Amino acid sequence: MSHRIAVYPGSFDPIHHGHLDIIERCKDLFDEVIVAVLRNEEKKPLFTSQERADMIDELLDRWPNCRVERFSGLLVNFVDEMGACAVVRGLRAVSDFEYEFQMALMNRRLNPRVATLFMMPKEDYSFLSSRTVKEVFSFGANLKGLVPESVLQHLKRRFEDLQEA
Ligand code: ADP
Repeated sequence: MSHRIAVYPGSFDPIHHGHLDIIERCKDLFDEVIVAVLRNEEKKPLFTSQERADMIDELLDRWPNCRVERFSGLLVNFVDEMGACAVVRGLRAVSDFEYEFQMALMNRRLNPRVATLFMMPKEDYSFLSSRTVKEVFSFGANLKGLVPESVLQHLKRRFEDLQEA
């Protein structure tokens, strides 16, 4: 039997429970899941790709067949490098679909060996995005149950640093 590896790519700036829900579902379908953090420092993320990867690494401790890597450039090339057969993407709502559909078809054109798998999170997380997490946190909202406690601490420290700067 072949060893089936999936890549779950994204910015994860920062990771939240919607992402973790997808990883948890995915880990039972594949032998190995690689969470791939996009190196997009030029877009001025709140956390560097290394910080994002470190946060994820800590959270993946509980699932031995999941690990984190950072990547840049073409996703399909990275997927090949990892020896993976699939890209996993989360779909929150119909609004995600159009962009995801275009990307999936483009990736298939670039590399027909790579399949794209869409997964839906638990309904409770269908409104959650890293952007809204950062936005509401900056206004003091309570994010308990939406973001892991360790990530909340990182957010707190980063916003404190930004206020001092
Ligand atoms: P975001 O900043 O919107 O959270 P990312 O680029 O970090 O987006 O997302 C990485 C992947 O996770 C994408 O496939 C995205 O659709 C998916 N995703 C993001 N938020 C959720 C969620 N709440 N539930 C399920 N999948 C999600």
